[in-house]
Amino acid sequence: MVTYFDGKWVPDEDATISVRSRALNYGMGCFGGIRGYMSDDGKEVFLFRLDQHVTRLQHSAKILYLELPGDHAHVSRIIVDLVRKNDVHHDVYVRPLLIHNSTQLAPICDEKSSSFIVYCMPLKRYIDKDAIEVCVSSWRRVADNAIPTRTKPTGAYLNSALARREAHDNGFDEAILLTEAGTVSEGSAEHIFVLSRGVLYSPPSTEHNLDGITRRSLIDMATEDLGIPFVERVISRSELYTADEFFLCGTGAQVTPVRSVDRRTIGDGQVGPLTLKIKQHFDDVVHGRVAHRKSWLTPVWG
Ligand code: PMP
Repeated sequence: MVTYFDGKWVPDEDATISVRSRALNYGMGCFGGIRGYMSDDGKEVFLFRLDQHVTRLQHSAKILYLELPGDHAHVSRIIVDLVRKNDVHHDVYVRPLLIHNSTQLAPICDEKSSSFIVYCMPLKRYIDKDAIEVCVSSWRRVADNAIPTRTKPTGAYLNSALARREAHDNGFDEAILLTEAGTVSEGSAEHIFVLSRGVLYSPPSTEHNLDGITRRSLIDMATEDLGIPFVERVISRSELYTADEFFLCGTGAQVTPVRSVDRRTIGDGQVGPLTLKIKQHFDDVVHGRVAHRKSWLTPVWG
């Protein structure tokens, strides 16, 4: 595979950083994650919401004193070029990574040492189950005013990793993290939706979760395309237990139904009808089957 590294296209094995890099020693950087979906006829790869992902990277860079190598169009071009240079004709996951790559000892944010890296890999499913069992983690979600969670900061994924490990050790598939205030924040790499009495709910990004692109897209799809009412509000832990339906979403997770939380079965334990409808519609949109949502897709080869 070919990787983009500070203006050069290099084989994966040559895309290396110093052991002294602040990015490695202190987890100083941020990243993105973009999916490309192969079209039904096998001729096209659609990058889902590239525009939004690049804008989020720009916001992250601004917050973390990092510098991208160019404007929105330039960064978007690098990402499309990467997929082309790797001759991708399958479902793909693209990882842009923007790091503080200087080797001085003391941690300080300094835009002059920014390195921009983009690599990709084939990806089918991130969560390899049709419906999952989750637990509420004993780890709290890192607070936005400690490490800005809306930026996808590399270092903050230790929080996600500890929560996932605890969940797996206890026989669950995924962890739900609460905020320090004890309200629902998000999964280790997914946003949360619950359905109750026909209404869809999800906590806002002020609940210390990522500014999620799948989440925002699903809100538009549910309300505008499927006529499902949506309310954005703080969600308490026990509401998860009594939800009629519950699903996680994200670039990796896509739409992943939840079967149980802390061993309390959701609904009758089957994937709920509205979750199924949303999941199917999401699948249609990302594969380019919904005409009025095609503007969300960037064709790599067309
Ligand atoms: N929360 C976290 C912590 C994540 O890492 C991700 C994956 N990017 C998500 C939520 C889902 O966000 P998005 O839909 O933008 O991929």
